[in-house]
Amino acid sequence: MLDASQPMRLQSYLCGAWRDGRGAYKPLLDAATGAVVAEIDASGLDMAEALAHGRRAGAALRAMTVHERALMLKAIGLALLEQKDDFHALSLATGATPKDGWIDIDGGIGTLLNYASKARRELPNSRVLTDGVTEALSPDNSFSARHILTPLRGVAVHINAFNFPVWGMLEKLAPNLLAGMPAIVKPASQTAYLTELVVRRILATGLLPEGALQLVCGSVGDMLDHMTGQDVVTFTGSAATGQMLKAHPEIIGNSTRFTMEADSLNACILGPDATPDTPEFDLFIREVMREITAKAGQKCTAIRRVIIPRAQTGAVRDALAARMAEVAVGLPGDKATRMGALASLAQRDDVRAAIARLQAGAEIVAGNPDAVRVASGDAERGAFLNPVLLYADQPLAAHAVHEVEAFGPVGTLLPYDSPDQAIEIAALGKGSLVSSLFTNAPEVAEEIVLGLAPFHGRVMIGNRDSAKSSTGHGSPLPMLVHGGPGRAGGGEELGGMRGLHHYMQRSAVQGTPRLLAAVTGEWTKGANSHDGTHPFRKSLAELRLGDRIVTEQREITLADIEHFASFTGDTFYAHMDEDAARANPFFEGRVAHGYLIVSFAAGLFVQPDPGPVLANYGIDNLRFLTPVYPGNALGVTLTCKAINPRADADYGEVRWDCEVTKQDGSLVAQYDVLTMVAKEWKG
Ligand code: NDP
Repeated sequence: MLDASQPMRLQSYLCGAWRDGRGAYKPLLDAATGAVVAEIDASGLDMAEALAHGRRAGAALRAMTVHERALMLKAIGLALLEQKDDFHALSLATGATPKDGWIDIDGGIGTLLNYASKARRELPNSRVLTDGVTEALSPDNSFSARHILTPLRGVAVHINAFNFPVWGMLEKLAPNLLAGMPAIVKPASQTAYLTELVVRRILATGLLPEGALQLVCGSVGDMLDHMTGQDVVTFTGSAATGQMLKAHPEIIGNSTRFTMEADSLNACILGPDATPDTPEFDLFIREVMREITAKAGQKCTAIRRVIIPRAQTGAVRDALAARMAEVAVGLPGDKATRMGALASLAQRDDVRAAIARLQAGAEIVAGNPDAVRVASGDAERGAFLNPVLLYADQPLAAHAVHEVEAFGPVGTLLPYDSPDQAIEIAALGKGSLVSSLFTNAPEVAEEIVLGLAPFHGRVMIGNRDSAKSSTGHGSPLPMLVHGGPGRAGGGEELGGMRGLHHYMQRSAVQGTPRLLAAVTGEWTKGANSHDGTHPFRKSLAELRLGDRIVTEQREITLADIEHFASFTGDTFYAHMDEDAARANPFFEGRVAHGYLIVSFAAGLFVQPDPGPVLANYGIDNLRFLTPVYPGNALGVTLTCKAINPRADADYGEVRWDCEVTKQDGSLVAQYDVLTMVAKEWKG
């Protein structure tokens, strides 16, 4: 249990130990009560040595396979899940309601677990990843190329924002650690106590190699002075700070990768078809309300600009104003509270100042930022603010609305006169993380989404059919990219396995296939092949890349084709009608079914006895290349192409290169056969 009576003295975990700052500790206040929660300082700590320590630790991560790293993340995620009540209890101090805390804490752990399982499903159990196909660079297959991805040898430094102390860390750590790179996390000071607690619990599991995760609670000091071209910096926060850090001489001089996620004036558009009598209108109002009030509007994806058909201005304004008036603002732990506090009194001052700037081109039509009404708590000691709605009658001229991010429960109504203009208004935000559109009309969806997409990392379409299943405008998902162009920072995070690439170097490797196979762990045409024992008789322990079987030839007769047709019901004319087949531009007469070829190929290469091959689970990249006529003879070459033992099972996947050829050597069909094979087999 946590001791709430004492402010926590936050420590940094650097170079294998928890360390105190050597300067004056700064108090961090509970967002809703003003009580001191924690104190923070990291001055005087040796950041150069912390980076060096992290870089050394990279070797231990790189020694693990991707699946081993994924299982490690899964175990950490499960351990955090068991302790989440502690995180939720502390999260209240950040001003977040339990529902807000769910987004941050459960959302963060969920992202970690999603990566852990997706990586094992989608990536090989290896230390190197490949990208794309083998490129043959010579006619005789003696020189080829393959793109590979290897972990960078530096440290990933994550400078995070105050609004998601848990998710903000875990959504970056998941792809980062999976890629095999160590990390240093620097949470925003205001809510660093929650990040510190989670890091303590992660380290306490003992699952991470020492140095894979370090933490700075306080200023990063001179850390950026020690950046190299192998390090990565990710930043989430204000555009001003982000741009300042991105322009650091060492980051520019070393071309250090810098991913930025900054201010974003996300929009939500009501389609011209979504009049007040449609379900889309109600869904739109619900979504805008949710996104303005969740986490008191302190979400990078929150809806700031509400773009509506001019004819619906009154209806939308009245619907939103009525709902805003009902939002109970108060202590986050209070059951009646719908919206908690902003992160700090300073943050509330910033939001009020931003509203004043917005008023240059917009008027307040609901809410009053200067008179706070609370259902519980103290309106002055807590950073409370009721929702505020503004209206800009001339959106194209209201520049501040497209420039100023009021990072609180604030939205501005912007009427449009045509779908083109709706797109133009959204684009004035100069690039955002996400926009959403509420429409039930396919032509509206096509026109507006294609107009919005170049300015956004994500676009969500809402309508009646997805009302129950939609994940919503505001939720970045682990499998989808998160980031936006231009003003939003130009960065990209998450996106499933794409997210690992930010921590890896992509290299084109050229060479002879035998040596490429040694580098990539995948056999390619031209590499060594070995005949002998049928490869289906070999367990994973015995199987080698390049093990193969070259089968006998089997003649295909007209009777085979007719039998296959009547047996399967596939009596397509090209197999059954000589004249019709001849009239087809591709054929000279009746041809064998493609699936007959695949079936007969299996009949040729399969070794039928019980053995280590457990199951066939699919075929990839199947192509039929030459027609097969009655009288042609087919043979198969099946070669072991990739071996992926599962880290947590007694079997693994084996990918086989399958080539079906005719008696004259021409290629009839090519594909990968996918099988499950036992690690050991005592037949
Ligand atoms: P900042 O840009 O000030 O801080 C973001 C992160 O950068 C924090 O971890 C902060 O640490 C760190 N930082 C600040 N200065 C430096 C520096 N010189 N060197 C290294 N790290 C530094 O943003 P805030 O958190 O104060 O938020 C300000 C505004 O940013 C918000 O009001 C909002 O408009 C916007 N914002 C946007 C977000 C988005 O995702 N779109 C998310 C959060 C904020 P420390 O806290 O210790 O200063």
